[in-house]
Amino acid sequence: MTTRDDRRCVACGRDASETPLIRLDYRDGTFHICPQHLPVLIHDPAQLAGRLPGAQRLSPAEHHD
Ligand SMILES: [Zn+2]
Repeated sequence: MTTRDDRRCVACGRDASETPLIRLDYRDGTFHICPQHLPVLIHDPAQLAGRLPGAQRLSPAEHHD
């Protein structure tokens, strides 16, 4: 997988002209996420599977069961 300099939220796809973006250094690439979706990364990273490589293997910070 090639690293693209494509600064968009991994969850909603908005770019920095539309929303602040938080940079994520992850594996061999750089990803970005917006503040609205940062909680998704923290609490339910599996939702980002397919957008953030390996996200399904990240552990949620806490359980919601
Ligand atoms: Zn977003």
